[in-house]
Amino acid sequence: MSHDHEQDPPSEMALRVKALETLLTQRGYVDPSAVDKVIDHYQNAVGPRNGAKVVAKAWTDTEFKKRLLENGTQTIAELGFIGLQGEYMVAVENTPSVHNLVVCTLCSCYPWSVLGLPPSWYKSHAYRSRAVREPRAVLKEFGVDLDQSVEVNVWDSTSEVRYLVIPQRPEGSNGLSEAELADLVTTNSMIGTHVLPPVSKVGEQL
Ligand code: FE
Repeated sequence: MSHDHEQDPPSEMALRVKALETLLTQRGYVDPSAVDKVIDHYQNAVGPRNGAKVVAKAWTDTEFKKRLLENGTQTIAELGFIGLQGEYMVAVENTPSVHNLVVCTLCSCYPWSVLGLPPSWYKSHAYRSRAVREPRAVLKEFGVDLDQSVEVNVWDSTSEVRYLVIPQRPEGSNGLSEAELADLVTTNSMIGTHVLPPVSKVGEQL
C-alpha cells in the first residue's frame, strides 16, 4: 500500500536550491531568467525526449514493441533509461479501438526516467479527481474527441508502477527516420491527453 514519495525531491532540498539561487542571483553570478530557461529545458526538452525515443523505436521495431509491452522496465532499460528504485514501468499501446490515459489519483506519481517532470495540470486536483470519473470529458478538454466505440482505459499510477502510453503513429509518417519520428512525439501523447496529428508532408513538421 506504499504510496510514499521517497523519490520526490525533499522540501529541504528545494529550500536549499532556492537559497542557493537567491544568493547567486544577489551576488550577480546568475541571471534568474537563465535559471528558468535551464529548468524549462529539463522539464520540456530533455525529460520527455527519453520517452519519445522509446515510442519512436516501438513504432519502427516490432520486436522491441513486443518486448516493451511485455516488460516495460527491462525494455526501456535497453535504451539506457533506468527508473528509480522499486519503480516498474508498464507500457500501454493506443490503437484505433483502445485509448489509454494515465493519472495518479492520490498525488502525482509519474515516470520521471522517461518523461522528466510532470506537467502542472497532471498534479492538479481537477485532473486527478476527474480523469477516472469522466475520462472522455477530460480528454475532450484536451482536444481529444474519441468516438464512443473507442474503449478508454485509465491507469492509476503509484510509487511502484508507472505507465508510458505508446501513442498511435501519426498518419503520413512512413518515410521518417526513428529520430524524426521521436521529434513528433509530445509529452501529453505519452500520458494519453494528446493524439498526434497526421504529418501532412514529410519534413514539414521537422
Ligand atoms: Fe502519486
